[in-house]
Amino acid sequence: MNLNEFLQELAKLNISLNPKQVDALNTYKKMLQEYNQKFNLTSLTSDKDIYLKHFYDSLTLIKAHSLSEPLSLLDIGTGAGFPGLVLKIVFPHLKVTLLDSNNKKIMFLQDVIKTLNLTDIVCLNNRAEELPKEKCEYFDIITSRAVANLSVLLELAIPYLKINGYFLPLKSNITEELSNSKNALKVLNCDLEKIIEFNLPFNNSYRTILKIKKQAKTPPIYPRSYSQIIKKPL
Ligand code: SAM
Repeated sequence: MNLNEFLQELAKLNISLNPKQVDALNTYKKMLQEYNQKFNLTSLTSDKDIYLKHFYDSLTLIKAHSLSEPLSLLDIGTGAGFPGLVLKIVFPHLKVTLLDSNNKKIMFLQDVIKTLNLTDIVCLNNRAEELPKEKCEYFDIITSRAVANLSVLLELAIPYLKINGYFLPLKSNITEELSNSKNALKVLNCDLEKIIEFNLPFNNSYRTILKIKKQAKTPPIYPRSYSQIIKKPL
């Protein structure tokens, strides 16, 4: 996917970018390619992969939720900023928190944010299960791509979501993960409202976005320590 094809596919999602946003994405792409020569941030570094598998894929979140309001959004395990940083550039009203346990990735993200003069965006170098208590019941939307299986992710995400907020993980094939997550959904007081299925343009890869609504407060014992989460998954 080249830049023109990227813009054409975004138009089909009702997203149109102004020249400043196109420049910002291209600066971000260039910085990612440069950093990646020194630090391993991502395995996808060609222009066409970045436009399709990082930028376009991140923006498919719009299929699950309107993003034009000033919502607070947490991206768990954002890596080199996917989907959270792309969403911030394209939907500037969002108040974005990028979370990753890897310090090199956080340093890269801080550099991009400074270069692009972005505001209302913070980076946290921490593990999701160790965020401070004041972040509990805090975010309107939480998303995550390629971090853990669904039952683990639910425990990492749902405690930080406001009641009536949405957890919107970006996934590929979800059938088995969903059948293993029924108890986690129940214990964490949330409902699966919708499964959005589609194929990426150009390479046809299958994608799903889950729309999970938090219905009530999370019992305060969650999230447990990572070793407990893994040893005794919900
Ligand atoms: N979301 C990005 C993407 O789709 O390109 C990065 C995916 S990468 C495969 C997974 C990232 O999650 C890594 O950067 C890793 O450091 C981070 N991660 C894994 N477990 C985490 C946790 N418990 N808390 C915070 N970050 C975590």
